Amino acid sequence: MPLTTTLKTPVTGPYEQPTGLFINNEWVEGVDKKTFEVINPSTEEVICSVSEATEKDVDIAVAAARKSFEGEWRKVTPQERGRLLYKLADIAEKNTDLLAAVESLDNGKSITMAKGDVGAVVGCLRYYAGYADKIEGKTIDTNPDTFAYTRSEPIGVCAQIIPWNFPLLMFAWKIGPALCTGNTIVMKTAEQTPLSALVFANFVKEAGFPAGVLNVISGFGKVAGAALSSHMDVDKIAFTGSTLIGRTIMKAAAASNLKKVTLELGGKSPNIVFDDADIEQTISWVNFGIYFNHGQCCCAGSRIYVQEGIYDKFIAAFKKRAEQNTVGDPFDNSTFQGPQISQLQYDRIMHYIEEGKKAGATCETGGERHGDKGYFIKPTIFSDVTPDMKIMQEEIFGPVCTITKFKTEDEVVAAGNDSTYGLAAAVHTRDLNTAIRVSNNLRAGTVWVNQYNMLSHQLPFGGFKESGIGRELGEAALANYTQNKTVSMRLAGPLF
Ligand code: ADP
Repeated sequence: MPLTTTLKTPVTGPYEQPTGLFINNEWVEGVDKKTFEVINPSTEEVICSVSEATEKDVDIAVAAARKSFEGEWRKVTPQERGRLLYKLADIAEKNTDLLAAVESLDNGKSITMAKGDVGAVVGCLRYYAGYADKIEGKTIDTNPDTFAYTRSEPIGVCAQIIPWNFPLLMFAWKIGPALCTGNTIVMKTAEQTPLSALVFANFVKEAGFPAGVLNVISGFGKVAGAALSSHMDVDKIAFTGSTLIGRTIMKAAAASNLKKVTLELGGKSPNIVFDDADIEQTISWVNFGIYFNHGQCCCAGSRIYVQEGIYDKFIAAFKKRAEQNTVGDPFDNSTFQGPQISQLQYDRIMHYIEEGKKAGATCETGGERHGDKGYFIKPTIFSDVTPDMKIMQEEIFGPVCTITKFKTEDEVVAAGNDSTYGLAAAVHTRDLNTAIRVSNNLRAGTVWVNQYNMLSHQLPFGGFKESGIGRELGEAALANYTQNKTVSMRLAGPLF
């Protein structure tokens, strides 16, 4: 198979799409020469085929990352690591239009949102570039005859497995902290969305990273993903995806070499609206909280709780707002919501919608397909829900939310926390005391007040409970990619 193909997007015209595996700064075919098709979720048509990594390719990529970690990369100074990351960010920024177009083509997200993602990628890489020469240890005074200090050392070869909902952004969240701290990487992208990372891989070489530092492979979870999680020469695995697969990865790590594990998993986040909230503003945030990225966000505000005084007014206005969201062609500048990622996800979401209807919930709006091709689903709101319903308990990962009336603060905090997940939550109120009290009492890794989905590369992000282990972003992420070494030295002088 050729290692590149010419593709076209409505905004870039023709461009060269790499299709191979990126190992050791070179494009190669898989050992078994396997390929798989990449589908355009807006049209259900095949975009192109890319190489599929098998266990043998994983071995080769891990060996490349190991060689680089023990060799050339180790000699690169922290300052130089930072310079390379800044350069990578600059190249990505220069190619914003191309990266965004590839993302829209492959993932189906609107071109406006895709450009926003690329901006966030650039910001994230620059943030971690700045950290490269600020990784520090401590000197610790234990007794007068000893000089002791700690070093913050890289963990080694990191496998990183990312999902399809933010293909480039998740790539950046993972590589930024791993590279600035001196690790090497084998990145496996999601089988639904390999294309933008492959384009990006060329920039890694262009920026001047030594061979083997960052290897990018396309492939399936059960094959390449499983091979990485159980690999005996991978020192750390970082995963973003479903809680189900998070468990599988943790088991594989435990059963192999006890590689370090960080997980960013699912959510079923409560979005709480008090009577005194600014209704108009809140409706915009609640709408954005659930329908941004077509509901395919681990932190989506999918359980909406509204206080009784404004419930009727709120539901009428929210329904109207959801119906105004433009669903359609991602390359149309006015589109807010594109298609779901795949037939499988479309079917899963429609199944939840049917379950909700059968369980007796009222479908206020949506609940059906949009258009006749592509995996589009109308923004959907369910009311008359009860906590035992599947649509209230399970992560749907689509444009579907539930809305529940509440009376008191205590009642809504208990309801909000009634979930096995704990990724995010939000509170809408004009009362500062309510905002702080409720935020403190919600068991979630992120709580937004009077806003939603406002992530920043400066702010740690991750889950309480079954939503994950470890934190991404911010200074906190550095801890996921470093380990402490203690050096303790005896000074010259008599022994005891
Ligand atoms: P989804 O169900 O939404 O596709 P997943 O959690 O299955 O989410 O997928 C997220 C990432 O995990 C993808 O890159 C996928 O290939 C990978 N993956 C899936 N199954 C496994 C597995 N058994 N081991 C390792 N990685 C996996």
